[in-house]
Amino acid sequence: MRKALLKIMGAVALLTFVTVLVFTMFKNPLNKKVQVDVFSKPDKVNISFNGINYTTPLKHFKLEVGKKYLVKVSKEGYKNRKFEFVPKNIKSTIIVNLITSVVFKNSIWKISSYCSCFKCTYPYNDGITASGKKVKVGMVANNWLPFGTKVFIKGLGEFTVEDRGNKKYFGTKEEKRQCIDVYMDSHKEAKEFGVKFLKVEVR
Ligand SMILES: [Zn+2]
Repeated sequence: MRKALLKIMGAVALLTFVTVLVFTMFKNPLNKKVQVDVFSKPDKVNISFNGINYTTPLKHFKLEVGKKYLVKVSKEGYKNRKFEFVPKNIKSTIIVNLITSVVFKNSIWKISSYCSCFKCTYPYNDGITASGKKVKVGMVANNWLPFGTKVFIKGLGEFTVEDRGNKKYFGTKEEKRQCIDVYMDSHKEAKEFGVKFLKVEVR
């Protein structure tokens, strides 16, 4: 009887220990690893660390376009503002950070507009985006940023990449043209918008 009780107590103690450990790991932002996709050669990266946001120039990083990285920042690194990106396959016990947006050297992008009409989207004028969603205001098309990427267009606000455009005008995954097609509800609005050159931040 006593043996059984000890076993149960042991199990409870172990379970509590594991729970606390897991909870601490997730609660402490220093233990989080955030995966970052490097889309194109960024000039600067915006970082959020412990609630503080700032921009770090590219010279602090060794980034290769198109590869996935884990971002790690040590406490000392944070103090000295030395950040490094470590390729995903390298095992690392050190820590984390969060990139909030990527600023490209040429941050002025070509912005155009479309609606779901025959003229704008033929032969894909079914109102469904390339990512398979019902098209609505707030969505944009770009041919190389992954679906779900948030882009902030100065003067227009934040949008989500959910659609693709004509390769002839919008490029491909290889030929990363800095252009965005903004969805609008009517053809009149889209036509009136025309083409603008605006500052874009990829978030
Ligand atoms: Zn249209």
